[in-house]
Amino acid sequence: MPFMRKGLFWSLRDGTDTGFWSHPWLDNETTLEELALCDLSDEERTTSVADWLDGNGMEAPKAGLGEDRTIWGAEKDGRFRLRSAYNLVVDEKEEEPMDVWKQLWRWNGPNRVKLFLWLVTHDRLLTNAERKKRQLTSNDECNFCKDEVETTEHIIRRCKKAGGIWNHFSSKVTEKNTNIDFQTWLNRNLKADEVGVDFGIVCWLLWKQRNDEVMEGKKFSEEGMICRIQAWFSIHQQALRTNKTCFGPVTSQRTIEDIGWKPPEEGWIQLQTDGSVITSLNSAAAGGLLRDRLGRCLDAFSCNLGDSSITSAELKGAVEGLERAWRKGYRKIELNMDSMTAISIMNSWKDDNHRHGLLAAKVGNLISREWEVKISHVFREQNKAADFLASRGHSLHFGIHHISVCEPVLTHWLLYDSLGITMPRSISNMN
Ligand SMILES: [Zn+2]
Repeated sequence: MPFMRKGLFWSLRDGTDTGFWSHPWLDNETTLEELALCDLSDEERTTSVADWLDGNGMEAPKAGLGEDRTIWGAEKDGRFRLRSAYNLVVDEKEEEPMDVWKQLWRWNGPNRVKLFLWLVTHDRLLTNAERKKRQLTSNDECNFCKDEVETTEHIIRRCKKAGGIWNHFSSKVTEKNTNIDFQTWLNRNLKADEVGVDFGIVCWLLWKQRNDEVMEGKKFSEEGMICRIQAWFSIHQQALRTNKTCFGPVTSQRTIEDIGWKPPEEGWIQLQTDGSVITSLNSAAAGGLLRDRLGRCLDAFSCNLGDSSITSAELKGAVEGLERAWRKGYRKIELNMDSMTAISIMNSWKDDNHRHGLLAAKVGNLISREWEVKISHVFREQNKAADFLASRGHSLHFGIHHISVCEPVLTHWLLYDSLGITMPRSISNMN
C-alpha cells in the first residue's frame, strides 16, 4: 500500500539498500525525489546512497555496519504502531472514498439525502455531462446557464442558480473557498458539526430542483427554493427533537416525503373540500373548489356554517361541493378530503345509526346518482386551496358564497399547486 511507505524511514548502515532518490533517509523524512528539480531517469532512480559516496560533504554511511534497515519513521523510537499508521492513512487519504464513506456514515441527516450524497461523492449522478458520456443525449449544457457543461459540481457549486441559494445560506457553508477541489469542499462542509446536515440538505434540494425543472418542466423562483429549503431544515430539526426514528435506519417506520398537489386523472374533475372550526368563536366554516387536470379552477366556494362540529363542517363542505359539481354537469368526480373521519362516515353512509346520520344520508343520496364519485384521503399539504376557502368562511355572512378565482390568496394557492411545489412531511410507513 503506497500510503504505508510514508511511515517508513531508512536507517542507514552501509547505504547499499537505500535508494538515494527514492527512499526517505534524511532527517526531514522526505525523499530527495520529492525535492528534485527535474524528472529522474530510471537509472538515476535506482542509485543507492552508497553510490553517491565521495568521502566529502555529507556524512558517509560506513561499510561494515551491516544492511540498511527500514524503521517506522512515524514514531520516535522507530517501532511500528497501528495508531500512527492510522493517523497517516487518515492524513494522507483525507479526501479518499474510504474516509468520505466513514464521514457520510456519521452524517446525521435523512437517509435519502445520505444516499444522494454518496452518489455525489462517487460522481454517479446522471447529469447532462454523464448522459452525454453514455450517449443518452447530445447536449451536455446546463439547462439554466446554457453555455456551461452540466456536471455534478456545476449543479451544486458553480451554477448561477446555486450561487444565489448559497449566498442566502452562506452560514451553512463552513469551507468558503470555492476554488478548492469540489470533493474536498464537499467533505469539509459535510463534516462541519453544527451546519453539516443543513449543508447536505441544500445540496440535495439543488439536485432535486434541477430534476423537477428538467424532467417535469417545473419552474422555481429563488424565493420558492429558499422556502422549500427552510421547510426541510425545520422538519429535520423537529424530527431530531421529537422523533429520532424519522431519520433512523431504513427499517424505521417513518420517512420524509415530499407532498404536493396531484391533478385528477384524465377525464376526471377534482373536487377538494375542507372544514374549519374556531372553537373560541363558536364558528364553523367549510369551503371547496373544482379543478381540471391542468389545475384550472372551475368553481370555488366558502360557507359560514354558524356553530357546528368539525366533522359536520367537513361533511357539509363535501355535500355542497358535490351539489355544485352535479349542477355544472361533471360526471366523473375525484373528491379529496383531509379528514379521515369524514371519509369513513361517507363510505359507510348506509349504516344509519351513527351520529351524523342525516348528513351521511345526504351524501349517500348524492353519491348514488348517475355519476362516478371516487373519495380519497389527501394530506393537508395537498389540500391548501380548500383549506384556505374553508377558513375564508369565518369572515363571511352566514350561508354559502361563490368565491372568485381572482381572489388573491386563492390565486396564490392555485399557482402554488400548478407549479408542483411540495412540502416535506413525516409519513408513517405502516399501512
Ligand atoms: Zn447552470
